Amino acid sequence: MAIRALIFDWAGTTVDHGSLAPVLTLERVFPQAGVPLPQAVLRRDMGLAKRDHIARILLEAEAIAAWQSAPGRLPSESDADALYAAFLPLQMECLLAYSPVLAGVPEAMESFRQLGYRIGSTTGYTRAMLDALAANAATQGYRPEIAMSPEDVGSGRPSPAMVFEICRRFGVAPHECIKIGDTPSDIAEGRNAGMATIGITRTGNMVGLSLAEWAATTPSQQQSLLSAASAALLNAGADAVAESVAECLPVIQAIVRRASI
Ligand SMILES: [Mg+2]
Repeated sequence: MAIRALIFDWAGTTVDHGSLAPVLTLERVFPQAGVPLPQAVLRRDMGLAKRDHIARILLEAEAIAAWQSAPGRLPSESDADALYAAFLPLQMECLLAYSPVLAGVPEAMESFRQLGYRIGSTTGYTRAMLDALAANAATQGYRPEIAMSPEDVGSGRPSPAMVFEICRRFGVAPHECIKIGDTPSDIAEGRNAGMATIGITRTGNMVGLSLAEWAATTPSQQQSLLSAASAALLNAGADAVAESVAECLPVIQAIVRRASI
């Protein structure tokens, strides 16, 4: 069996070190609604389509407790609608400021292309956000052949609909692809499609630090952050982990070798 295509996530994987743009936006939206929540809760289901992510946060024990103490009731679908309506413009406003292409990504993509891999991408961002992101990334040398948003296919992660549509357009089978992303939702998307998956640790949501914050941590803190991120992604079913896309190639080659045994 050959691997013919690689499908990458966006924030925390190919752009936006630490997946900060969506977290910082959620950290504005929930307090505005009078219900601040810890960052760990806001990050827990990162990678879902944004409306689904907000609705999922409202099911978390911390959100239910917060709503019961502040408005004095359970959070509702209309709370999700209001939060999402507030989220959209704030996310657009700060998206590009936090979304430079990560170091080494254009070079890594060039080597993947030279090895014959097609390059696709999926996201939890809306089509409008993805259009802005992709145009910005193109100016920095990252141009996946396909950039798919949940709106294009009617459902986001953990549904495999986006990756199936990429397979259809590339004319490849799901088991000929590897899904690469920084959240358990990314891993679920790939697994639900029957693909091998690689979890991204250092640059992603599970470590959750900007490049400057990462550089300011001690080597032992870095090791424990990487271990926790690896454990979370492997526990979600990832076949392997890599610290960044720039360090993915040996992991991809190991999956290819294993698949051809
Ligand atoms: Mg991500």
